[in-house]
Amino acid sequence: MDRLKDKVAIITGGSGGIGVATAKLFLAHGAKVVLVDKDKDALATLNKELNHENIRFVLADVSKKEDTLKFLNDTLRTFGKIDIFFVNAGIEGVARPIADYPEDVFDKVVNVNIKGVWLGCQHIIPKMQDGGSVMITSSVAGLKGFANLGAYVASKHAVVGIMKVATIENASRNIRVNTIHPGPVDNDMMRRIESDVSPESPKTVKDGFTATVPFGRYATSKEIGEIALFLASDESKYITGCTHLIDGGMLTA
Ligand code: NAD
Repeated sequence: MDRLKDKVAIITGGSGGIGVATAKLFLAHGAKVVLVDKDKDALATLNKELNHENIRFVLADVSKKEDTLKFLNDTLRTFGKIDIFFVNAGIEGVARPIADYPEDVFDKVVNVNIKGVWLGCQHIIPKMQDGGSVMITSSVAGLKGFANLGAYVASKHAVVGIMKVATIENASRNIRVNTIHPGPVDNDMMRRIESDVSPESPKTVKDGFTATVPFGRYATSKEIGEIALFLASDESKYITGCTHLIDGGMLTA
């Protein structure tokens, strides 16, 4: 316990499946946590549910510079510093081939999944403590192509590029930057994707995805939080510039 004692963490996408599971782990290990999300109702519900003196909630859209500066300044005002930045907010877009992909949805995916990560790296990292840790949530879709998910796949590859540049640019301050690449996670995002692919039979879609995972199941959000905990802690202090796959063997099969 206390692997993050006295550390201050920002988690974007903070009211989603992975964000909440990670926040609970970070709090349990002694961190102070700022949860950032654009979902006002979910943040309000979590505020009641978690009810912890070391957590703050900030309503913000990561694709907007003024909102990024808002959660930066809120964190510094409330907790005085930033050690950990979990750049985790993301959207899946829709399941369509590139030829039929709606341009407005493509723009939204790029804005949240690429520009949101870019703005975070641009404005938050310079204000972080030396020796801090940045984790960006990519996906198996950041390392491999998946038909019908073109915008998502493109965006999740793009953040690997951002991670590699941010790694080099911040190494002299001992700030490490890594990407996390989950396979399917058993939470709302996969429910939406399954229903989008087959509104009549989402369970069949889930079974199909599950069959591609050698472990024979989706990850839990907590399992993704556990790798974030390791990368946030000093136990990973020589690990930077890496793509961390957590997929039950999916990309090996
Ligand atoms: P989720 O849908 O439960 O959570 C995503 C959260 O991001 C939501 O709370 C949403 O409100 C928030 N968000 C979306 N756009 C935002 C914006 N513009 N500003 C602020 N917040 C915003 O899904 P999740 O699984 O917790 O997703 C977290 C990350 O994990 C995402 O980047 C996702 O692409 C990635 N990922 C998820 C899976 C999966 O199977 N669920 C697999 C691989 C990678």
